[in-house]
Amino acid sequence: MLTDSHAHVDGAEFDADRDAVLARARAAGVQRIVVIGAVADPASAERAVALAERDPDIWATVATHPHDVARMTPAWWEVHERLARHPRVVAVGETGLDYYYDHSPREAQRAAFARFIELARAVGKPVVCHIRDAHDDARAILAAGAVTDCVIHCFTGTPDDARAYAARGYYVSFSGIGS
Ligand SMILES: [Zn+2]
Ligand SMILES: [Zn+2]
Repeated sequence: MLTDSHAHVDGAEFDADRDAVLARARAAGVQRIVVIGAVADPASAERAVALAERDPDIWATVATHPHDVARMTPAWWEVHERLARHPRVVAVGETGLDYYYDHSPREAQRAAFARFIELARAVGKPVVCHIRDAHDDARAILAAGAVTDCVIHCFTGTPDDARAYAARGYYVSFSGIGS
């Protein structure tokens, strides 16, 4: 059985043919899909959970992507704190650090990452991490948060970076992204 652990199918760009996309995934052998509810504002988290509620093969994560954390308000955190406890939500993420694009100030990224790690611990769920050109800072924050269950998705670091994550028991995903 194949599980797609990182699918962005909640967005409006899939509204016209989402069911067909999901049907093609199933036909190709993907029987479970984790929809990452973390794009832009928390409407993404709400959409991901709604998809998971109506389809037993779909599960959700909730967070705000590091690109967008500079825009976070207390109301955004309230949505995530509520939805992270939802039974169809299997992880907190994607969260992390993206120093390649720097769309949000690095200090804001580090603060939000640490807070999402705290939330994951509070609800007893793993962390889906988006880390780009920021592996030293990421490892320090993950260690400070005593994170044990975690995937470093879309990995673009060095072999030593990968070994350091593996030594902590984390999963590392290789997706073929360019850097
Ligand atoms: Zn993603
Ligand atoms: Zn990502």
